[in-house]
Amino acid sequence: MTKPTNPSELSPEQAMRYSRQLMLPALDFRGQEALLASKVLLIGMGGLGCAATPYLVASGIGSITLVDDDTIDHSNLQRQILYREADIGQSKVQQAAASLRQLNSEIEIQALQQRLSADNLATLVPQYSLVLDCTDNLTTRNAINAACVKAKVPLVSGAAIRLEGQVASFSMQGDGACYHCFSQLFGEQQLTCMEAGILSPVVGIIGTVQALEAVKILGGVGTPLYGKLQLFDALTGQWRQFGLNKDPGCTVCG
Ligand SMILES: [Zn+2]
Repeated sequence: MTKPTNPSELSPEQAMRYSRQLMLPALDFRGQEALLASKVLLIGMGGLGCAATPYLVASGIGSITLVDDDTIDHSNLQRQILYREADIGQSKVQQAAASLRQLNSEIEIQALQQRLSADNLATLVPQYSLVLDCTDNLTTRNAINAACVKAKVPLVSGAAIRLEGQVASFSMQGDGACYHCFSQLFGEQQLTCMEAGILSPVVGIIGTVQALEAVKILGGVGTPLYGKLQLFDALTGQWRQFGLNKDPGCTVCG
């Protein structure tokens, strides 16, 4: 039996590299081509970003921009797995980009070492197919959400602290909720990992679920977590899912 000829725009090298995904009927060549044509903006190269990016790059998301103004600290090595001891003091985005380029040299990887303002976000976000929020503070999360609502760009949001994590995706289309619809419910009471601690693999689990969400949305696979908040409790190993409804009075999307 002869092998089917490549029916797509993928090069023979790409067809080989992504062969284990191409054989999935849910993705197929069409989904892989969509991944390769996608541009992802990933904000926050801490534990979540370090977990998500290798899978985004390995699975063939065509272009990724990494944003973080921070440098690598000794206390980051416990969970930010793209960095090495020799990288301490270096730029997170530069080190991450260098590491990710070794994983997949055909992906376009940009490193922006800066903290994005609302103005920067309003300019940047419309240029992307999807945004991953891997940041660790509510002010930045709300600013990213507002830019995604305005530009109607899907957002995959993740958070992890102590032994808990959460993931939610927002299509920013139709009458779905936005991040602010539910973040306004918990206000400013959240702590950072520096204050509350974090168990290392928990950020890995949440970051990789964010990568899975991005690949599903961009590759047209299955059902994303739109309108749902998925919570993980590492103490018991349990996942719980809650529905997220749009708040008609939301000041961002209402
Ligand atoms: Zn809203």
